[in-house]
Amino acid sequence: MSVDKLTAITKDVGGIPVARVLPNKGNKRTIGAWCFLDHAGPAEFGDDEMGLQVGLHPHTNLQTFTWMLSGEVLHKDSLGNEQAIRPKQVNLMTAGTGTAKGISHTEQTPPRNTTPSHDLHAVQLWIALPMDKEIAPSFYNYPTLPTWEQDGVSYTLTTGEFAGYTSPAVQYSPLVGIDVQVNPPTHPATASSKKIDIPVQANFEYGILVIKGEVTFQGEVYVADELILLTECNAEQNQAISIEASFGSHFMVLGGEPLPHKTLIWWNFVDKDIEGLKQSVIDWNAEHPRFGSIDLTGTPLRRLVAPELPENFKLPNA
Ligand code: MN
Repeated sequence: MSVDKLTAITKDVGGIPVARVLPNKGNKRTIGAWCFLDHAGPAEFGDDEMGLQVGLHPHTNLQTFTWMLSGEVLHKDSLGNEQAIRPKQVNLMTAGTGTAKGISHTEQTPPRNTTPSHDLHAVQLWIALPMDKEIAPSFYNYPTLPTWEQDGVSYTLTTGEFAGYTSPAVQYSPLVGIDVQVNPPTHPATASSKKIDIPVQANFEYGILVIKGEVTFQGEVYVADELILLTECNAEQNQAISIEASFGSHFMVLGGEPLPHKTLIWWNFVDKDIEGLKQSVIDWNAEHPRFGSIDLTGTPLRRLVAPELPENFKLPNA
């Protein structure tokens, strides 16, 4: 098993702290098909602030996977969906595969008078699609996910199968995503942390993203916005990752089977080769109908422009 510690690069995006964990340069860039990982917030918005306002942009060959922890975001897409996502829910948008398919969407904090919550805390992920499969665009909101408590630890299964539970989230390659929160001790504690064994699936790679508190693995301490990346696991079914997690800590376990092809990322596009990325840039900027559209009239949002692919664009792991 190969163990890497990845540290996020944190940026301020319109007043929201965003910690980008993947892609992470100089390291292997995926956990199975999970290829992009942002931890956004927590952020509180003032009365005169608009919050998150992401203009119309496209996606290709990927699923956007939003796991909402606090606040509310209004999603609109070119399939005609309008969906508010609320805490403990997943929004899953599939762009479809190939040069004839795509999708576009906007994401906004709703106006103050329409929602009691004016804050944001979310984990935003992308899942690369297997490009040898013909996959159609779609969008789903999952308001109810398997949630359980065991030994003072709260679990929510956002996607995949774990501990006898199954999430309804649509998958195109084997994946798992588990939100884990360690409750504070009910009695005066004799220790400051709890030992947790996470059973693993054969052929999966794993990543553990710390959201709050501390997680210790093989003697190394990981804090918020650090990722334990476990590749070349060669694990037998139901072997376990053994960690120590501090009381009150919060982390997300991600796992998946590697795709049979490369995953290249440029702007909001994923592809297995450079030609596909270039075509997507050309098509989006020429308003090709493969991406559909949304009427932005009466909104503060604009249609974003795709930047040209640089000549020296590097392939992953090259
Ligand atoms: Mn997007």
